[in-house]
Amino acid sequence: MKLELYVASGNAKKQKEMAGLLTGEPVSLLGPSAELPMPEVDEDGATFEENAEKKARETSAAVRARGRAGLWVLADDSGLEVDALGGQPGVRSARFAEDRVAKPTDADNNAKLLELLRDVPPQRRTARFVCVLALCDPSGVVRLRVRGTVEGVILEAFRGQGGFGYDPLFLYRDGRTLAEMDALEKGRISHRGQAMAMLRGALREYLVRLE
Ligand code: IMP
Repeated sequence: MKLELYVASGNAKKQKEMAGLLTGEPVSLLGPSAELPMPEVDEDGATFEENAEKKARETSAAVRARGRAGLWVLADDSGLEVDALGGQPGVRSARFAEDRVAKPTDADNNAKLLELLRDVPPQRRTARFVCVLALCDPSGVVRLRVRGTVEGVILEAFRGQGGFGYDPLFLYRDGRTLAEMDALEKGRISHRGQAMAMLRGALREYLVRLE
């Protein structure tokens, strides 16, 4: 038996990463499409947990409103917490440079981060990525919420071509940035990889109960 799972993310790179982390699992994946678009969700929560649950619930309601019953919905809210910036950009990671440009790109956000940390020495550039996943059942009830984190340090210059977002500035303890890892390597250690491992366990248990 397979669950039909709608991955609620408008970020193509994040979506791809999430799909990769579910390879081989008993789920058939769907993403935003013309027939089943993702609703605009105002991510106004103070925590990753609030935003992930809100995204999952509102997306679940939207797919049901389009007559698509039986779909589970998975939402990810994630971001970077930099200690020297009091935990910023945090839940605002995707919109960090919004004070400079209307729709900031990863490059805009990274440029702002480097600027704010210009005078901060290496030992004080500690940071972590956080990923919270929320899973809604087909009736719109949140059945699972998990959090994964990975600790690192923000570099002074970019390294690597892989990943997305802040990856080329985020140095992992093995001496590589997340952008210098391939998708499998990043998935083994990353905030999203850890949260997805918890989700995979829960999905398998759930399917066993259904069989
Ligand atoms: P969200 O789509 O509102 O959850 O925003 C997530 C934002 O956090 C992204 O746009 C990135 O800037 C950042 N982010 C989340 N996960 C990662 C990651 O794995 N690598 C790099 N940046 C990430």
